[in-house]
Amino acid sequence: MEEGARSCLLLSRSSLEQDIRASYLMDHMISDGVLTGDEEDRIRSKLTRREQATALLELLLRKDNQAYISFYNALVRESYGDLASLLHNSLPLVSPEAVLSEGGVPQRPVVFVSRSALVNRVREKLYRLQKEPGWVTVFGMAGSGKSVLAAEAVRDHALITGRCFPGGVHWLSIGQLDRADLLVRIQSLCFRLEQQSQEKDPSSSLHRPPGSLEEAKERLRFLMLRRYPRSLLVLDDIWDSSVLKAFDIQCRVLLTTRDRSLADCVSGSKSEVAVESGLEEDQALEILALYVNGKPQRLPEQARSIVRECKGSPLVVSLIGALLREFPDRWAYYLHTLQQKKFKRIRKSSSYDYDALDQAMAASIQVLSEEHRELYIDLTVLEQDVKVPAKVLSVLWDLELEEVEDVLQDFVNKSLLFRDCHHRPYLYYLHDLQLDFLTEMNRSGLESLHTKVVRQYQQRYSQGPPTSGDEECLYWFRFLTYHMAKANLTQELYSLMFSLDWVRTKAQIMGPAHLINDYVEYGAILDKEILDRLQTDFRLSVSNLVFEDEHEEQVNHCQFTNTRRRLLLATCSNDKFMNTKLWN
Ligand code: ADP
Repeated sequence: MEEGARSCLLLSRSSLEQDIRASYLMDHMISDGVLTGDEEDRIRSKLTRREQATALLELLLRKDNQAYISFYNALVRESYGDLASLLHNSLPLVSPEAVLSEGGVPQRPVVFVSRSALVNRVREKLYRLQKEPGWVTVFGMAGSGKSVLAAEAVRDHALITGRCFPGGVHWLSIGQLDRADLLVRIQSLCFRLEQQSQEKDPSSSLHRPPGSLEEAKERLRFLMLRRYPRSLLVLDDIWDSSVLKAFDIQCRVLLTTRDRSLADCVSGSKSEVAVESGLEEDQALEILALYVNGKPQRLPEQARSIVRECKGSPLVVSLIGALLREFPDRWAYYLHTLQQKKFKRIRKSSSYDYDALDQAMAASIQVLSEEHRELYIDLTVLEQDVKVPAKVLSVLWDLELEEVEDVLQDFVNKSLLFRDCHHRPYLYYLHDLQLDFLTEMNRSGLESLHTKVVRQYQQRYSQGPPTSGDEECLYWFRFLTYHMAKANLTQELYSLMFSLDWVRTKAQIMGPAHLINDYVEYGAILDKEILDRLQTDFRLSVSNLVFEDEHEEQVNHCQFTNTRRRLLLATCSNDKFMNTKLWN
């Protein structure tokens, strides 16, 4: 609780103790989620009214601004107007920025235009969630600006500090994931929520991470109901209805997706907002004008054609805008670039027209220096929807951190990469479509790109895995196995996953679910590797034995080479062994 509010409470303490009836106030505070049932019981167990009032005030002094506000509101509602007025001047302001940042809501892109009609439509649906839980679906094509729109819609003072979502807004990026990954995501969300709630109320405890999806769902249900009542959960980029079912816990959800029908599978009230795949022409021109520091009316004639060529796609307009900022004379050239249909690669079955994106990406990559281009191509190895700190790239590129930050700044300036400034250190990520483009462009070199990651990691951490527990360390524990699998380094993957050191440290730093996730994910590779190793061991032991000629007849029908047949004969003559598949 901030200092002013605390000292006001202390100064008014005796007046409050004299008059208030704690049992009346606590009902309101519980429904605001700032007091738990246990705490209420403890206070009720005091014998006299005054003792109960003292206990409530003592507890309140250990709580946060939200609790102070809730206590104040309870006084007003229970007609203690004179007492409420003692506290009124010190009411803390809950800053919307703090709420958004705590909930992990992404910031606006550096160059941003407001799609006010759309934003208002989403807000209007969100206001309806004030009364009851439910779902608001924002749907549209990839790159149409759904995430930016969702973040903008919740950037509304009245929504988050008023009566609508007093429990805050909690953002979760989902993307394409399987059950194991989903568990990991919900675990992180629960951890974040518990940690924040513990900071506000040190008496609440942190639990061990939930071990299964069912348990995770129950934990989240509990947290949303008890600790964060009437808060909003934003699920960004959901692909699969089974993922959505994990969040079917009677809470308030805003989700972005490409699939309009996704929310059909969950219960509760539902509404939706469609996002056109492109911006209105005026808005797209405004983005270009902002990039080149000009006025939309003064843009050259090619500007409209550029917007038309990319159908107003915000992602493509941003890429071209960033190029024009650097080369303001190239309007005609970039228009011509967009009109070329050189790249015929990506998912033409999709209703989205990717041509413009391909041309824009190619043009942006082309203007990078050769050195930076190579570094950018290395980003192909990132997994979709994963954000990385600069330190990971400093290992990958073997560059000083400051140099890496300079390179990343160049990418961010060109809209080739995005930065999440909510975290310190900053985290960097690619848009899905950019990653698709890179993957297609470098398909034949993927294995060696992943091998490079593994080798660079091994070089930096030759003495053993990192143990700092920071974002970089977490990245390696989470993704080193992924890179090894993609690099086809199965023997190294096997050794790593059966190295006690790795298993112990990973379990300590990340909890068991991540470990189990790895064994589920790479089970098939490990099985094959075990089989190969058994064969090798078997062959080795067999080759040490003496060949016994008389058994040759018995194995003649087998399709083994002579040497193998002789070796096999040397070890056994029983049928069971000869039927073994190990030798095929
Ligand atoms: P989606 O979630 O639909 O895939 P995003 O919301 O991630 O799309 O937007 C893709 C990119 O388009 C953003 O990174 C940003 O560069 C640009 N963009 C989207 N909306 C806007 C906007 N309102 N103003 C400026 N740029 C935008």
